[in-house]
Amino acid sequence: MVRRPLVVGNWKMNGTRESRKTLLANILSGVSESDPAEVGICAPYVFIPEAAELLKKVPILLGAQNVANEDDGPFTGEISARMLREFGCDLVIVGHSERRLLYGESNELVAARYKKALDYGLTPILCVGETLKQRERSETLDIIDQQLDAVVDSAGVESLANAVIAYEPVWAIGTGRTATVAQVQEIHEYLRRKISGWEPGVSASVRILYGGSVKPENARTLFGLPDVDGGLIGEASLDAESFLSICHSV
Ligand code: PGA
Repeated sequence: MVRRPLVVGNWKMNGTRESRKTLLANILSGVSESDPAEVGICAPYVFIPEAAELLKKVPILLGAQNVANEDDGPFTGEISARMLREFGCDLVIVGHSERRLLYGESNELVAARYKKALDYGLTPILCVGETLKQRERSETLDIIDQQLDAVVDSAGVESLANAVIAYEPVWAIGTGRTATVAQVQEIHEYLRRKISGWEPGVSASVRILYGGSVKPENARTLFGLPDVDGGLIGEASLDAESFLSICHSV
């Protein structure tokens, strides 16, 4: 089973309309269909319509950073999967640790968001990962089990065939502190083995990205690990040169 690597930029809540337009223009000029890695950008909601326009006929996937767990209705501040689809999104991040920790999103809520994304034909990028405290208490695998089990209980293991998983140790996000190759490979291999226990075909095909201080200097080593299929890039995706260098490190 050949898994095409995927590198996704997560712009988070950064930039202005003009600066994002320039960033995107610079990124798209460096991406081609024949590149080994597929490339995606998860933009803040308000930039999505313009980004969709710019990405027409360009082989870059467009995504959002979250999605509602409901279809329509009185959910002030939420954006539905149908809306994202209508505005040209292919991808959506669910369960990013910033959402889990700063906005209290539970495993069950993340699973509901994940399910809605799939219902409307979006590819969810399910983020899993432990905090430093949890790692120090040797709870890493338990935490990851709980995060993945919630999604599988709600949407079924087959749903992972249409999803992407991102392992993002919280202590490595935006800290400049990257997990060691041994730590990354251990968790990625664990995830693949766990999924294989349910459904070997899905395990062989699902892409598992690494996220957490991926930079041009460490991307090639991380992406070279057997169970790493690309990355979810925060900080370094805000600079076109760095992001493209990471995309070309596959
Ligand atoms: P970082 O963020 O690359 O800035 O560590 C990764 C992420 O939060 O997805």
